[in-house]
Amino acid sequence: MDLHDYAAATESTNIVTIQSRYGLYIDGEFCEPASKKYFDTINPATEDVLSQIADANENDVDRAVKAASRAFPAWASLPGSERAKYLYRIARILQERAREFAVLETMNNGKPIRETRDFDIPISVAHFFYHAGWADKLEYAGYGSHPQPLGVVGQIIPWNFPMMMLAWKIAPALACGNTVVLKPAETTPLSALLFADVLEQAGLPPGVVNIITGAGSTGSALVEHPDVAKIAFTGSTNVGKSIMQSLAGTAKRLTLELGGKGANIIFDDAPIDQAIEGIVNGIYFNQGHVCCAGSRLLVQENIVDEVLIRLQTRMSTLRIGNPLDKNTDIGAINSRAQLTRIQELVNAGVSEGAEIWKCTSELPIKGFWFAPSYFTNVTDAHRIVREEIFGPVLTIQTFRTPKEAVEKANNTPYGLSAGIWSEKTSKIHFMATHLKAGVVWANTFNKFDPASPFGGYRESGFGREGGRTGLGAYLKEVAS
Ligand code: NAD
Ligand code: MN
Repeated sequence: MDLHDYAAATESTNIVTIQSRYGLYIDGEFCEPASKKYFDTINPATEDVLSQIADANENDVDRAVKAASRAFPAWASLPGSERAKYLYRIARILQERAREFAVLETMNNGKPIRETRDFDIPISVAHFFYHAGWADKLEYAGYGSHPQPLGVVGQIIPWNFPMMMLAWKIAPALACGNTVVLKPAETTPLSALLFADVLEQAGLPPGVVNIITGAGSTGSALVEHPDVAKIAFTGSTNVGKSIMQSLAGTAKRLTLELGGKGANIIFDDAPIDQAIEGIVNGIYFNQGHVCCAGSRLLVQENIVDEVLIRLQTRMSTLRIGNPLDKNTDIGAINSRAQLTRIQELVNAGVSEGAEIWKCTSELPIKGFWFAPSYFTNVTDAHRIVREEIFGPVLTIQTFRTPKEAVEKANNTPYGLSAGIWSEKTSKIHFMATHLKAGVVWANTFNKFDPASPFGGYRESGFGREGGRTGLGAYLKEVAS
């Protein structure tokens, strides 16, 4: 099937002002890093340099933690209703500035404007509204009659959903009365730095939220700072493991949200058109840079031919290219390093004998791109089935019985997400009960709600974000 010729519908970037360089946001102001070092941040769709970003060293991290420690007593002792006002204000300002944030996020991340506009920014706003609602009701949340915050929390986030990850971290921390030092990922710092402006607009007291930029060594200085009461980390399983090692034997609390290799399971009684949309949404949303992606497709054997034909037809209509074009479905891969990782795993798949099918659309010359692809002729032993690719690459296997589907789905070191497609509710309940995943979607995929806790098992990490459960990660444990 040919793509219709659409006229370009490019979102204007006029709404965004990007400074030529950014310092660190500590104690309510932007300051030079003690390191005096900066690094470039780029637009991965064009490779244009957007700005220069401060590279925080240990001294900078120490300044940020000290500012958060000074701000803590006053913030923690505010009535919850007062903290709620700040969170509501932040939510409303973010909502008012949604388009500015959507455009900036697309420029720095490479994901389509359709996604930042309709998903990333609205869900971030929703998290602030939701947690504003909890701030004055914590004593009814099931954490004792006087729930107490932890202190200074260090939060380290990845590049795949920069703004949404920021909201998932900062909103519950503040609602519970903690103060924050947040480190965005080195490839996508711009929306977090613009968020500092929102905090200023909201009049948040200085030091309650500090934003420090840098790469892994900045993150590890934050992890190791003695005055941090808790680390909340989202990112790769390897870094998660090393953080856990370095916190062992300390009193610091830890939550880890790591990788995944989610099974998306299609039964022969599934509503097939919806299931095809669910497969595409499950793995090609956000270029597959999704920890809970449905990256392993399991199809009941008797319908696999039909599913493959329909999937190819649907995938042939995906528009790949300029992320700022409102018609674009698939944007740029976030970095050259990530593109290399994807290529390396895809090559391993081919050399291990799997069969690849790729979208044939032309890819832009500049920037980092990977055409949506899937592999057939794979087994549980293939690297591409076992390892998280974190790109627009699906593996397809078949099964005959629900029991076999459960065994294949659970045959992974991860345990973050799974999807079930069937018209039969009893089958959905059987599957959901037996799947070892933190979230199981039925007849949908990649659905998020701030009221619904999210998190993993096994090598996908531990702890939950969102909902009443998620508050527990930011409150002292009480004896019941
Ligand atoms: P990463 O774990 O290296 O980076 C995530 C965050 O941790 C970044 O802010 C980074 O600067 C920071 N960091 C890196 N090393 C650190 C250390 N030693 N101590 C403290 N902080 C540190 O992830 P990545 O390199 O961006 O991506 C690699 C892989 O991670 C991906 O291919 C994917 O498998 C996985 N990943 C998962 C998620 C997720 O949402 N679960 C997000 C991004 C990446
Ligand atoms: Mn200020």
